[in-house]
Amino acid sequence: MDFLAHLQLSSSNIGTSTGNNWINSTGSEIESFSPVDGKSIGVVAATDEAAYEQVMQTSQAAFEVWRTWPAPKRGEIVRQVGNALSEYKESLGKLVSYEMGKSLQEGLGEVQEMIDICDFAVGLSRQLYGLTMHSERPNHRMYEQWHPLGIVGIISAFNFPVAVWSWNAALAWVCGNVCVWKPSEKTPLCSVAVQKIIGKVFAANAVPEGVSCLVQGDYQVGEWLAKDTRIPLVSATGSTRMGKAVNQTVAGRLGKTLLELGGNNAIIISEHADLEMALLGCVFGAVGTAGQRCTTTRRLIIHESVYDQFTTTLIKAYKQLRIGNPLDASNHVGPLIDKTAVAQYLLAIDQCKQQGGRFLVEGKVLTGDEAYESGCFVQPCIAEVENSYPIVQHETFAPILYVMKYSSLAEAIALQNGVPQGLSSSIMTLNMREAEQFLAVGGSDCGIANVNIGTSGAEIGGAFGGEKETGGGRESGSDAWKAYMRRQTNTINWGTHLPLAQGIRFDI
Ligand code: NAD
Repeated sequence: MDFLAHLQLSSSNIGTSTGNNWINSTGSEIESFSPVDGKSIGVVAATDEAAYEQVMQTSQAAFEVWRTWPAPKRGEIVRQVGNALSEYKESLGKLVSYEMGKSLQEGLGEVQEMIDICDFAVGLSRQLYGLTMHSERPNHRMYEQWHPLGIVGIISAFNFPVAVWSWNAALAWVCGNVCVWKPSEKTPLCSVAVQKIIGKVFAANAVPEGVSCLVQGDYQVGEWLAKDTRIPLVSATGSTRMGKAVNQTVAGRLGKTLLELGGNNAIIISEHADLEMALLGCVFGAVGTAGQRCTTTRRLIIHESVYDQFTTTLIKAYKQLRIGNPLDASNHVGPLIDKTAVAQYLLAIDQCKQQGGRFLVEGKVLTGDEAYESGCFVQPCIAEVENSYPIVQHETFAPILYVMKYSSLAEAIALQNGVPQGLSSSIMTLNMREAEQFLAVGGSDCGIANVNIGTSGAEIGGAFGGEKETGGGRESGSDAWKAYMRRQTNTINWGTHLPLAQGIRFDI
């Protein structure tokens, strides 16, 4: 595999790093198996306590220096990081596809997203604006400014093994923070490859060691970050279960969290929809990344007048899906991440049937072909359900699409909002009043609400995140950078008297 050599990965890799330096650790071996062919890609050592301590001390010292670099100079480093990622786009995209299992197009898209957020962050480095206010006291000036927080701990999920880290890191860096990244234990090699690319850029620019750190391990290493009072902000992406645990620990020490958790995203298909366009949006949303995106379309809420017509074409489209090696561009659907995910998919299908679901396209594990040898390939399936079924209320990270009928838009919006999660939502309609009602107060309760596009595939320019059990965090574009900084209000008296606010008199 040429791309592994190009990324300087071998069968045995050191996983802990402070930038350009790699730190030996006696932690247990984490072996990464490709869900594509079941083969071992390589091994990294988990970070042990001594290595973790070294990382933390190095990053603390790095913050003292990095925060004094002017923000546009930090932006210049991020610009070079973006350029380096462009050089490695092909190899890194292939690794993302091979280690995680998403299609090569999506793997390349993930690297493009990293490049895009670097571009965004470069511009941002000259726009970390604070407001100025008029003081009520004469000869006083009042304004606010933004300072970096310190060490940002980044815990990331397997399904976006590189992009979500970059959303955090690129912004955190231009804001003057240093980062400690704990990637998913299911995709450690992607993180090692990225760190090697970054390390070279940082070394060439004499960026202090410790600005970009990497630690490896399972939830226990994530817990170290959550507990560590030296980390003022923990940005955690993953399941709601994980987010609740991290939130409690970090809140217990009055730290800050930025949580990007599970979704249960729905598309409303109105009787006024362009059904052809809706079909494409629904199928890509439901089966892209084999249903393993936080923004995957999990529920379709279809108007009763077009229900039969739309489900018939949907079933037909599902029968045409090509499932196989994601590195082969002719395939639509790749594997699930591992056999545990396959077991959860099967369990969800069973529970759906027990709760009353009727399958329009049956799910199964694919076998009988060399291409399916890893045991991780499954058939995307469709079930007719009620929104109230416990399984429908739950995010199963697999390509299971639930369909249901509605008769009024108010009912459709209530169904769409009637789940514990609140990440992404959309409506397919050509009716302007319907679209506006969906977006208005009392419409979608999600962090993302789209019209005539699916639920997945957000752009980096907008703030990304969701409400309710999705955690409430916002990353990426817009003013998401504010989460990575602390606000300070400054009042300066340049006069010859000391008047007090609110007209209070204090004479001595
Ligand atoms: P996961 O929760 O199993 O793991 C995510 C990360 O958290 C991993 O690095 C893991 O080691 C760590 N972790 C797990 N338990 C922890 C704990 N108690 N303390 C500290 N760290 C802990 O999730 P996953 O299976 O890797 O990813 C899939 C989930 O991520 C889905 O629910 C998906 O919706 C969600 N996700 C959300 C977004 C978003 O932006 N909202 C983006 C991607 C993925």
